[in-house]
Amino acid sequence: MKLTIPFDNSFARLDSAFYARQPPVPVKSPFLRAFNQDLARLLGMTPGDAAEQAQVFGGNLVPDGAEPLAQLYSGHQFGNYNPQLGDGRAVLLGEVVATDGARRDIQLKGSGRTPFSRGGDGRAWLGPVLREYVVSEAMFALGIPTTRALAAVETGEDVIREGRMPGAVLTRVASSHLRVGTFQIFAARGDLTSLRALTEYAIARHYPDVTGPMGLLAAVRDAQAELIAGWMSVGFIHGVMNTDNCSISGETIDYGPCAFMDVYQPDMVFSSIDHQGRYAYANQPNIAVWNLAQLATALIQLSDDRDAAVEQATEIVHAMPGLIEAAWMRRFRAKLGLRSPHKGDSALIDDLLVRMSEGQADFTNTFRALGSAKARDQFVDPASFDQWAEGWKARCLSETEVEATLKAANPGFIPRNHRIEAMIEATVAGDYSLFHRLTRVLARPFEDQPDENDLQKPPNSDEAIHATYCGT
Ligand code: AMP
Ligand code: MG
Repeated sequence: MKLTIPFDNSFARLDSAFYARQPPVPVKSPFLRAFNQDLARLLGMTPGDAAEQAQVFGGNLVPDGAEPLAQLYSGHQFGNYNPQLGDGRAVLLGEVVATDGARRDIQLKGSGRTPFSRGGDGRAWLGPVLREYVVSEAMFALGIPTTRALAAVETGEDVIREGRMPGAVLTRVASSHLRVGTFQIFAARGDLTSLRALTEYAIARHYPDVTGPMGLLAAVRDAQAELIAGWMSVGFIHGVMNTDNCSISGETIDYGPCAFMDVYQPDMVFSSIDHQGRYAYANQPNIAVWNLAQLATALIQLSDDRDAAVEQATEIVHAMPGLIEAAWMRRFRAKLGLRSPHKGDSALIDDLLVRMSEGQADFTNTFRALGSAKARDQFVDPASFDQWAEGWKARCLSETEVEATLKAANPGFIPRNHRIEAMIEATVAGDYSLFHRLTRVLARPFEDQPDENDLQKPPNSDEAIHATYCGT
C-alpha cells in the first residue's frame, strides 16, 4: 500500500512571519537505514515500502498533504544572544493528529539548505543521525518526554565534517518544535502582533487549560521542571541547553553532544565546546531556570501593565527551583525504593550520591543493583556503601514493595556512549547489527535481559569517551 500521512498543518496556517516555505533539497540516492514501525502506526500513517520511505524521508518526494517549511527562531547560545537562528538544516513536513489524539510535527533534519542556514551546508552526517535515533528512542522507553525518531535515510552523498562522511537525514517527530527561542525572536524585534499570535497558538496546542502569557509561562515551567528531574534521574547530560534547544512542550529536543554518565560525577561535561561547564550535569537545573527567565522576558512584553507582569513573572520563575527539587526528590526517592516521603530522605539520597562520586561508582549500575549484593562492588571502597546501606535498610522498614519500586525506577540499560560510538563506527562501515541490537534492547530498559548483560558494562579505560561533538 502506498505511503500516506494524514497531514493537518496548523503551523503552516499561521502568518508567514513564523517561517519560510522550503521544500527539502533532493539527495543523490536515498537508502532507508531505519524505520520505526510502532511510531508510524501511532501517527496513523500507511507506511508504504522501503523504497518509498527512502524517497519521502530522504527528501526526494514531498508526500501528499505536506507543506514543507523552515521555522524561524533565535536564542541564547552559551548565554549569548544570537538574533537569528532558525531551521538551518531542517524542514517541517507538516503535522498529524496521531491515533492517540495528540498533534505531532514530522520534521526532516539534514534535509538541505534553507534561508536560515547562514554558512552551513544544511546537511547532517550519519553518526549524529543514528545517535539521535537510538538515544531519543531510548529516552522515550525510559519514560522521559522526548522527540522521537521515525526514519533514518542515507543520502548517497558525502558531507564534509572532520573528513568526508556519509550524509543522512533523520525524520524527527515532536509535540511541536516551538522553543523558547521562537518567542525570543519576535520579542527582540518588538513584533508584538506575532508574539501574541504565537502565544495563543502555543497555549491552544500545548496547554489549552491555561490563559494568557503568564499562564503559558507557568505551564512551561512545570513541564521543564519535570523534564530536568527526569534527566537527572537517569544521569543524562543534554550538553547544549541553549534557549533554542529548550522546547515549550517540555520534551527533550536536540540530541547533539549529549551523553549518559557512566561513573557518577556531578560536574561531568561531555560537549567539546562547553569549556566553562555551563551545561554540566549538576548545572542543568540552574540552566533550566535561566532559560525560563528568558521566556519570561519575552512574554512580559505582551502585558499592558509591565510592572505587574514583571512581578508575576518573577514569582513564577522563582518557584521553579523548588519545583525541580520536588520532582527530583520524588524520582530519587523512588530510585531508593521509597514511595512515601519521610524527613531525612533528602540527606539519605545526598549521602549516597557523595559516596558514589567519591567511590567512582557507575550511576546506572549502582542504582540498578540496590537491594542486591552487587551494589557494594560498584564502589572503590565497598565499605563506604555498606555504611550508607545500614541507614537505607532501616529506612526501608517503613516501606512496602521496595523491590518493585527499585526496579521500576532504575533502568538496567541506557545508551552508553562508548557503545553509541562503536555503533556509529560500525554503521559507517556498513554493519548495522549493533544499531539494531541497541534499538531493540533499549526499548525495554527496565526489564532484565540476561543475554544482553554486556550492554550494561561501563567502558573500560581505553573505551571511555570523554567528549561528544555537535558535528551534525
Ligand atoms: P544546534 O546547535 O544543533 O541547536 O544548532 C544551532 C543552529 O545552527 C540551528 O539554527 C541550526 O539549524 C544551525 N545549524 C547547525 N548545523 C547546520 C548545518 N550543517 N547547516 C545549516 N545550519 C546548521
Ligand atoms: Mg537546535
